[in-house]
Amino acid sequence: MAYLSDPKETIAVLNRYGFAFKKRFGQNFLIDAHVLEKILNASGVAAEDTVLEIGPGIGTLTQALCEKARKVVAVEIDQTLIPILREDTCRQYENLTLINEDVLKLDLHELSESLGGCSFQVVANLPYYITTPILMQLLERRVPVKNITVMVQKEVAMRMQAAPGTKDYGALSLAVQYFAKPYLAANVPPNCFLPRPTVGSAVICLTPHKEPPVFVADEAFFFSLIRASFGQRRKTLVNSLAGAPSGAIPKERTLAALSQMGLLETVRGEALSLQQFAQLSELLA
Ligand code: SAM
Repeated sequence: MAYLSDPKETIAVLNRYGFAFKKRFGQNFLIDAHVLEKILNASGVAAEDTVLEIGPGIGTLTQALCEKARKVVAVEIDQTLIPILREDTCRQYENLTLINEDVLKLDLHELSESLGGCSFQVVANLPYYITTPILMQLLERRVPVKNITVMVQKEVAMRMQAAPGTKDYGALSLAVQYFAKPYLAANVPPNCFLPRPTVGSAVICLTPHKEPPVFVADEAFFFSLIRASFGQRRKTLVNSLAGAPSGAIPKERTLAALSQMGLLETVRGEALSLQQFAQLSELLA
């Protein structure tokens, strides 16, 4: 069988169906067998696994997942891709369930229950415009996922795994690292996709923590504090929190908390670790 990771095969399918790429759906199809292999290896998908694939496209990754996993559920927003997958590229896979829907509108807990309540893996070459919302939905709502292996924009992957004090460190780093352990599995250049994206990509694996690595009594307050701390990066933490749109925190209170934590009055949000944000949140809540 000819696989779609062979660019000639992808072009043949696209021509057969007169398929026109839709920019608004972030359609950049994978055309590199080595990258496909790297995604599969990084995910560790095995014969007993159930996989949720977000955005199967014409089925490049889907074919490989169906051959490895027990069951694959693929959610695709673009209805013009459904006949291609159903009648052509994935017609032989009886372990594939296709859902023609916007993944952001699906109740992922309900989906997990319909899969027997078992924890599943998420594997996807994500449309970049939904990267943060879909990953945060999976993590924040504690959907029972074993692990998440996704292709994202390189810059976003760097932010997810960034450490305090680096230029990439911010609210996304803290949110992701509170819920999961990130690991950058591969860098992927634009020529591995059709059409070529304008930016580089990376495969990142997120393994959700069983318990968060720090104690936080009020998660909503903790995350609003983090967002406010990075709202204006050049401001000190004290000034950022004093002008927080979600609720100003008086300067004296923040100064007292910083002093208790042994931090300088001039410290910026980007210098605080996850543990320090948790401590600050407990002191200010
Ligand atoms: N998996 C294919 C591959 O690797 O070649 C396609 C990846 S392409 C980057 C992203 C896919 O996600 C497209 O097929 C696009 O139509 C689909 N998509 C975009 N937004 C979506 C959404 N909100 N829900 C489900 N699928 C979506």
